[in-house]
Amino acid sequence: NLQGKTALVTGSTSGIGLGLAASLAAAGAQVILNGFGEVEQAKTHIAGLGAAPGYHDADLSDPQQIADLMRYVELEFGGTDILVNNAGIQHVSPLESFPVDKWNAIIAINLSSVFHTSRLALPGMRERGWGRIINVASVHGLVASKDKAAYVAAKHGVVGLTKTIALETARSAITCNAICPGWVLTPLVQQQIDKRVAAGVDPQQARDDLLAEKQPSQEFVTPEQLGELALFLCSDAAVQVRGAAWNMDGGWLAQ
Ligand code: NAD
Repeated sequence: NLQGKTALVTGSTSGIGLGLAASLAAAGAQVILNGFGEVEQAKTHIAGLGAAPGYHDADLSDPQQIADLMRYVELEFGGTDILVNNAGIQHVSPLESFPVDKWNAIIAINLSSVFHTSRLALPGMRERGWGRIINVASVHGLVASKDKAAYVAAKHGVVGLTKTIALETARSAITCNAICPGWVLTPLVQQQIDKRVAAGVDPQQARDDLLAEKQPSQEFVTPEQLGELALFLCSDAAVQVRGAAWNMDGGWLAQ
């Protein structure tokens, strides 16, 4: 039961972030949403599960806007108890032609934002004597795929940062862990399926091929399943789970 806890989920207007926010709201947490796009839809969805959510439109590529977001949570909701670092983007291209601006954006959003939100959330967690940091890394935090240089570098970085934060908080009731999903059917992955369809592959075939290359279950992981894992990491039973990079990937990493 997360009654009385606040949960900031970055990048929570869509996909995995919205699913994690829904699980946390249904468990009683006061959720704070962040991200772009279908903001009103996301707010309505979360309000239907629990307390009306907070929302801040910070662009997580900008440390100043991250500071504004963290101050908003502090002033309006008394600080962040559960920090879910989920915002992330992808770009697929061979290294030699990888656009430099995409590299910089992916490192900023997928990796540096985790440093900034964490450094700003930790003092309050220490004061209150409890905290959970859950970093949504990826199987690409533990293994690579070709054409995803920035994403793989950033996600490996997130796994490393997770371990460091876990050590620095080890003598407290604050834990920091990463979760490492395989393929989840969200807009981020749909873009990669659409690329295959644009190249002339039938849509169902494109999905099947994508899974067959990496995910032995031949099924997508769902945001709801990841939500259950996040709830476990928030529980008292998980207090000695520290610095883990926990995959939920249909067997991707077993190969
Ligand atoms: P998505 O595109 O559905 O959602 C991304 C969210 O981040 C959206 O809410 C978007 O508005 C927000 N966002 C994007 N740029 C932002 C910025 N600059 N500032 C603030 N918010 C921003 O993607 P998703 O698939 O749900 O991905 C969520 C996380 O899960 C990412 O970190 C991604 O790397 C990771 N992940 C996804 C998969 C997958 O298969 N979909 C697998 C492993 C890990």
